[in-house]
This record gives sequence, C-alpha cells and structure tokens, in this order.
Amino acid sequence: MASKKLLFGTAGIPESTKGKNSISGIERIHELGLDCMELEFVQGIRMSEKGARNVMEVGNKQKIGLSAHAPYYINLNSPEEEKFKASMERIYQAARIGSLCGAESIVLHAAFYQKNSKQGTYDMVSKALQKLTEQLLDEEISAVLRPETMGKRTQFGTLEEVLSLSSEIERVLPCLDFSHMHARDGKENSYSEFITILSKVEEILGKEGLLNMHMHISGIEYNSNGEKKHLTLKESDFNYSELLAALKEFKIKGMIICESPNLEEDGLLLKNIYYK
Ligand SMILES: [Zn+2]
Repeated sequence: MASKKLLFGTAGIPESTKGKNSISGIERIHELGLDCMELEFVQGIRMSEKGARNVMEVGNKQKIGLSAHAPYYINLNSPEEEKFKASMERIYQAARIGSLCGAESIVLHAAFYQKNSKQGTYDMVSKALQKLTEQLLDEEISAVLRPETMGKRTQFGTLEEVLSLSSEIERVLPCLDFSHMHARDGKENSYSEFITILSKVEEILGKEGLLNMHMHISGIEYNSNGEKKHLTLKESDFNYSELLAALKEFKIKGMIICESPNLEEDGLLLKNIYYK
C-alpha cells in the first residue's frame, strides 16, 4: 500500500527508549515526532504471534508505520541445501511475524556471490524469491519482500540487480540503501547521481514505484571493498542534503529508515531538513 507521505524513522527502537521492547520503541517514536520504525529481526525472530498482534495494536494506535528487517544469516545463493533452506525459512518467518505486526515491507540481504557468477547468483535469488512470494500469497500474508542494495562488493545487491528482481517478480520491491550504494564504489553521492538513481527506479517500476519506496540512510565509512561501518551523518561524507533534495524533486513517498548509530538524532535531522 502506498503511503501518502514520506515517513522518517529508525532501524529498531530509538536509543532513548526507556524499555527494551518494540512496543516502548513505537511509543518513543511517537513522542519524538518520528513516523515509522523498522522491527529488527536481524539476530533471529523471537517474537510470538501474540506479541506481534500487540505490536500491531500499538502501531495502529500511535499511527506509526512499521517495516521489518529479516535476519542477517541469509544466503539464497548457498550451494549447501541446508543453509539455503534455513535462509528461506528465516525470510518466511520474518514475513509471517512481521505481517502480524502490521509491517508491509520485509527487508532482506539476499545473498553473497561467493564462487558463483553474478548471473548465476541472480538466478538463484530470483527463483528463491519467486517461490517465497508464491508461498506468502497462498497463506494470505500480504507483506512485500524487499531485497536491499548492499554496501560490500562481495554481496549480491546492486541497484540494477534489485530493480530487475522487482520488475520480474510480483510482490518484490526494492529497499534502496543509499549509503550502501555510495559505499560500494565511492560514487552515488551527488544531486545528479541521486536523480539518475531515481530515474532508473521510475523507468523500471513506473510512477507507482516512486510512491511506494523503502529506503535506508546512514553515515558510512568505506574502502575499496565497499562498506566498513555505519557512522553518524555528520562524521561521514554522505551527502544527505542533496539526496533529500532529489527525493523532494521526485515527490517520493514511503519510508526512510535511519541506520546511523545515533538512530533518532539523525532520523530527526533528516526529517527536519526534508520538511523545513
Ligand atoms: Zn539491511
């Protein structure tokens, strides 16, 4: 479902949250004047169905948009049957529990190339996501799967790969991590480059794609292999103000999830610049 606005929020619960759970996180997002939060299932999915329904209730009450991030331990290109199956199961569970929370988007790190070719990896990921989205549809789980643009060169997930999957498979859409795209080769960090990226999204997914975007932004440190670690926006060279200007130019709608170490501080910085 396309949102009518561009929402700003954090990856996981804000640092200043008093409790440690998702519900207190959602309440803190509301108090801070932010709009959304990504549930971090990154170390595994430990939430029960009942817990998920409680999250949905609080999210609805506070009008906070939710997404979910699937576990990190996923490789849809694994040649080992067991690892591949475990990866499928983790994405499926993230989608199932995430949907019960009211999350419409499930973000995932799809694969590593390892010894496979880029095309071979793409084919593995594509087949796996096809199968998963069919299973979700069968079970009336409405979330869309969002493979993310990745920051390390060993990781599957260039803009082209992620957009191609999104055009090819129903209920797959991109998660555009702009900091990762920048870290991957040191480019993609100016107004004109951001405009080029957004034009590609429009070319492949149409206007609709621009109205239903899911994005990650943080400061980032990188070297010739790509991403090293996340930084605060002000510590890094990431050109967030030109990115926000490009998003405004394209009237982008959806969610921006801030992944800087100071989560809500940078999340609010981005929101304030965008809406000033
Ligand atoms: Zn991620």
